[in-house]
Amino acid sequence: MPITNSFKAQLYPQLERITNHFGTPFHIYDEAGIRATGRALQEAFAAAGTFREYFAVKALPNPAILAVMRSMGFGFDCSSIPELLLARSTGARGEEIMFTSNNTSQDDFLAAADEGGCILNLDDISLVAKVPVMPELICFRYNPGSRRSGNAIIGKPEEAKYGVSHEQIVEAYRQAQQRGAHRFGLHTMLASNELDYSYMVQTASMLLELCRQLELELDIRMEFINIGGGMGIPYTPEAAPLNLQAMGREIGQLMQKFEKDYSYCPALYMESGRFMTGPHGVLVTRVINRKEIYRTYVGVDACMSALMRPGMYGAYHHIEAPGVEQPEEVVDVVGSLCENNDKFAIQRTLPRLSEGDLIVIQDTGAHGQAMGFNYNGKLRPQELMLRQDGSVERIRRAETVDDYFATLQFEENILAAEQ
Ligand SMILES: *Cc1c(COP(=O)(O)O)cnc(C)c1O
Repeated sequence: MPITNSFKAQLYPQLERITNHFGTPFHIYDEAGIRATGRALQEAFAAAGTFREYFAVKALPNPAILAVMRSMGFGFDCSSIPELLLARSTGARGEEIMFTSNNTSQDDFLAAADEGGCILNLDDISLVAKVPVMPELICFRYNPGSRRSGNAIIGKPEEAKYGVSHEQIVEAYRQAQQRGAHRFGLHTMLASNELDYSYMVQTASMLLELCRQLELELDIRMEFINIGGGMGIPYTPEAAPLNLQAMGREIGQLMQKFEKDYSYCPALYMESGRFMTGPHGVLVTRVINRKEIYRTYVGVDACMSALMRPGMYGAYHHIEAPGVEQPEEVVDVVGSLCENNDKFAIQRTLPRLSEGDLIVIQDTGAHGQAMGFNYNGKLRPQELMLRQDGSVERIRRAETVDDYFATLQFEENILAAEQ
C-alpha cells in the first residue's frame, strides 16, 4: 500500500535533507496521519455510544507516540511491566490503562495494581485465585474456540494460548464475584491484520450475546465490551482497506439494538495497534552494496533488527525508491544479518538501485521497530517523527555498542560447586 499522499508529499521532497541531518537508517512516523486515523476511528464508532480506543502499546512503544494517543483521549493496552511504565509515564492512570497479560506472573499483578491500578484483563480462570487483591472492576479475555475461525497470524482460536474457554467463562465471572469484584468487562482478541470488517462485527455480536448470557446466569451487567485489536491495513498495493465506516455503522446498530432490548448498553472499547500507526510509519534505509550472483541482491544499511515482519511472517512491505529512474529489475533487498531470511523483499521488481540510493520501506509504523532484536549483534535504528508543523524530531536515538554491552556489566556472582 503506498503511504498516504500527504505523508509522501511532505517526506519525499525532503528525504535528502532529513537523511543528511539524521543519517540512515531510521523509522519516521507521520503525526498528522496518526491523528487523522484517530479521528476517523472516533467518528466511525460515535454511533456505538461510549467508545474508547486503548492503543496497543506493543505496536509502537514510544513515549512521543503515546503522548499523541493520550492527547486524542485514548487509553493504553499493556501486557508487560515496561509497557505499563510507559503508559503511566504519559500520565495515564486507572481505567485509562488496560492490562492484558498472558501467562501472568505475580510481579505482573503487583505492577498492575500500582499507582491506582488499571483495568485488569484476566487470561485464565486459574488466575482469579492468584490475583493478590481482586480489584472492584475485572475483565476476562474470552476464547470462543471452534465457534469462530481464526487467521494466519494468531491462528485458530482453539489452538491459541489466549483467553478463557467458553465452558469456563461463566464460572470465571462467578469466582471473581465471590472474590469481591462487582464491576465487569468482557474482552476478546481473535484476529490480526483482518481486512474483512464483518469479522470484527461478528466479534462484537458474539460479545454482546455473551453479555446477555452472563446477565441471565449471574445477574451481572458488563460495563464494556472490548473487541480487541487486529483491524488490518493493506500492505500490498492490491489489497482493499478495511471498511471502517461500515464496521462502525454495523456495530453501532448492534449496540443500539442491545440498548433497546435490554435498556442498558456496555461501552465499546477496542485496542488497535496496527490500524492506528501501521500506515503512518516508514523505514528509510540507504543502499550500500549490490551483489550479482544467482540472483541480484541489493544490500541496505538496515536489517531485520529494524523490521522482523518479512523474515518472521513472510510479510509483504511495499518499497519505493523516490527519485530513482527506470529501468526495472528483479532483486532481493537484504540486510546484513547472517540469516537468509534477513530480506525486506524477495524477487521484487524495483527500479535499478545503485549504491547511495535511498529506499522507503512502507507501513512500518506498527510492529516494526518494536519487534526488533539484537541477534547477531545488530543494533536497532533511531526513530523520528514528522510533526504537524513540518519539523522532524528524533524521538529515539539509535542503539549503540555500549547499549549492547550494558548487560555484561554486573557484579561477579558465582555459586561454588557442591563439595
Ligand atoms: C497485539 C495486541 C493488540 C494489537 O493488535 P493489532 O493487530 O496491532 O491491532 C491488541 N490487543 C492485544 C491483547 C494484543 O496482544
